[in-house]
Amino acid sequence: MKSKCRYCGKETEKGKDFCCDKCRETFEAKTEKDNKRIKFFGIGLAIGAAIMFFGALMSKNIATGAGIIIMGITIIILPYTTPETIGMLGYKKAEIAGRLLGVLLALVGVWAGFLR
Ligand SMILES: [Zn+2]
Repeated sequence: MKSKCRYCGKETEKGKDFCCDKCRETFEAKTEKDNKRIKFFGIGLAIGAAIMFFGALMSKNIATGAGIIIMGITIIILPYTTPETIGMLGYKKAEIAGRLLGVLLALVGVWAGFLR
């Protein structure tokens, strides 16, 4: 099996985690930042989910939508994905995939809260 760069996803020499030093440095810097900010990701999602839950409970579409939008924006700002996704796509693509998911979620929120 060929190895893949954990940052950019390019194929690397067998057994190597990164294609170059720059990728390794960027990956390490980013994961270190991620570890520091992951609590904000959790808080943002929790707040969004709580607002969405109350919106659903009270049948308030705007609150439901706003809650979903908050979760979407949290993911756009802090696009955390699973280690499995990073292993499969490389950090760079996983980050883009995470952001796309956040944008989709925010759009769903706009639809659920304001367009129905
Ligand atoms: Zn690379």
